[in-house]
Formats: sequence, structure tokens, C-alpha cells
Amino acid sequence: MREASIASNCQRCHRLLGHRMNFVVKSSAGDMLTCMKCALSHTPMLRRSAAIALVVGFVQVAVNQGDLIIAGDASSALMWKIPLTALIPFAVATFGALTNARRIAAADGGR
Ligand SMILES: [Zn+2]
Repeated sequence: MREASIASNCQRCHRLLGHRMNFVVKSSAGDMLTCMKCALSHTPMLRRSAAIALVVGFVQVAVNQGDLIIAGDASSALMWKIPLTALIPFAVATFGALTNARRIAAADGGR
């Protein structure tokens, strides 16, 4: 009886969901219960994270490397740091969205 109350399938890929890593994502049809793989590939979340990465990454690059770029002293060693700088806010925004979307199974007391 206890297992029947927590056993459910991902509403996107129909894979059986485990106990811990389930997520509720917004879709045009309403809230969807998904597995981690489907939550990670949820396009609206990825678009939001990319927009955040673009804005925050631009500000971080401007603050940290702006003087070098404006002076024209940007070396090739600096060029690999710029996309890496944008990757950090992308990862943080995605992690935050997944943390907020995580659904905790009530069957084990909400732990
Ligand atoms: Zn899935």
C-alpha cells in the first residue's frame, strides 16, 4: 500500500520515478511530474538559465576583464575565460530552478 502511493511515472518519458529525484515543471498543459533527465532538458528552464547567464556573465566579464578588453589587451588566454564566466550563472540558475522544482515524496515523512 505504501509503495503504491509513491509509485508514479514521469509524465514526459513515462519512466518509473524513484523516491528522491522527482521534479514538478510548468508546461502549457499545467504542472508535470518529471524525472531528473526530463527536468534537466526542460526547454523553458534552459532558456531562462541562458538568459540569466547572458546578463550576469556579461556583467561579470565587464567587471573582471572589461579594462583589458577596452584597452585591446585581451589575449587568447582570456578568450576561454569569457564563456566559462557565463557558465557559472547558468549552472547556478539551473541548480536553483531544479531545487525549487524538486518534489519530495511524502511517503517517507518528507525527508
Ligand atoms: Zn522523464
